[in-house]
Amino acid sequence: MKQTLKILVVDDNEVDRMAVRDALTKAGVQMELFEVSNGNDAFSALSTTAYDCVFFDYRLPDQHGLTFIQQLRSSKIKVPSVVLTAQEDEQITVQLIKAGTTDYLSKSKISPEMLVQVLRSAIRIYWAETQAALVNQQLRESHEQLIRKNQELERQQQQIQMQNFKLLEVSQLKSHFLATMSHELRTPMNAIIGFSQILFRSKFGQLTHQQADMVERILNNGKHLLMLVNEVLDFSKLEAGRLDLKAEIFDISKVINLAVSEMRSLADAKNLSLLVQTDLQNTLVFNDPVRIKQILINLLSNAIKFTESGEIWVEVKELSASRVTIVVRDTGIGIAPRDFKRIFEAFRQVDQTITRKYPGTGLGLAIIDSLVRMMGGKIFLDSKLGSGSMFKIELPRQIRLFTEAADAPDVQLDGDDIFSSAKNPHHSSSKTR
Ligand code: ADP
Repeated sequence: MKQTLKILVVDDNEVDRMAVRDALTKAGVQMELFEVSNGNDAFSALSTTAYDCVFFDYRLPDQHGLTFIQQLRSSKIKVPSVVLTAQEDEQITVQLIKAGTTDYLSKSKISPEMLVQVLRSAIRIYWAETQAALVNQQLRESHEQLIRKNQELERQQQQIQMQNFKLLEVSQLKSHFLATMSHELRTPMNAIIGFSQILFRSKFGQLTHQQADMVERILNNGKHLLMLVNEVLDFSKLEAGRLDLKAEIFDISKVINLAVSEMRSLADAKNLSLLVQTDLQNTLVFNDPVRIKQILINLLSNAIKFTESGEIWVEVKELSASRVTIVVRDTGIGIAPRDFKRIFEAFRQVDQTITRKYPGTGLGLAIIDSLVRMMGGKIFLDSKLGSGSMFKIELPRQIRLFTEAADAPDVQLDGDDIFSSAKNPHHSSSKTR
């Protein structure tokens, strides 16, 4: 209890007021005691001064004790209060406590010990109640804050969902646009390529050396442009999940040789040796030959593009009876390990500047990646800056299609499983991307 307490006694009976004053004085309570005789004066006193406790008579001349305590409670005045009752009436006591009185005491029991005990406990109870109310208030506030935050999060979540929908819509529009545009571009490109080829035929007259040179450039540029357009078309189809593999049984070594022979002139133009090694006991596979060739052409055109001198090797081997591997190795500029993963993402190139030395769409490896995944295969990359790169593709000899039951071939040939004769090859270690 603090040193000097400010105490207010409200009672119209002077003798009763004196009894309280005497008892508190005898108990040695250090205090400033103020006395008023009715409820109205008590309110005036309480609204101008902060008291540590108020003792009030249950029967005040101007109002009932219950009304007094109710008014006190509903006003902004905060003070521990002790009601002094003339007779012990439990019902009244309960009502008063419910209405907010801190404690009560029968006037017949007023004694220094009793009064000081009631005073102490009233102050203690009051502070405990105040603290509890404060904590409650804080809890309520943080609860309200949580509700507000929750609402905000829900709102943000809805916004993100909306944005996701919009992004999805835009992405679908973009894929659709790319597919339509590349499809539309293919028709005139094919005409340019076709008519340039026709111009070479002698039945339309002999071209001069200069004319032939120009037509050849038109043809080569046309082919290059068509390849780019096809890349964009494939990519948009892959993104939209609309690219299907058309699997058949074919001789993989023939497809590899075909792709290599198509790329040889490019390698020759840069004075690069292009070597092929096929080490297969069984050359038959069940896959999409067009896509296998496309993968190889992409890897070879990269190898040629990024190699200034040296060699390019293509190796085809059997990993096991059920798996084959195609390796394309070069002695080119190489790739830093930090870019291993990135370069398989669409439109990603190690050099992304406009002024980059090597042209390209940045779609080749992304397309290869998707195709190899669709085939149930894996890509491995090993490379060292300045020394060269090695792309290894492992593929199942027989790919699985989504509509396998309908599309799978009869793998029996002359009573034997055509894929059963593969020998077990050696296995080279490399970094997985
Ligand atoms: P593009 O060749 O059209 O740029 P790709 O998706 O085929 O796109 O390749 C992505 C990037 O990966 C290339 O831009 C290049 O930086 C790197 N890259 C691919 N192949 C090689 C390679 N054989 N040697 C060095 N870098 C390569």
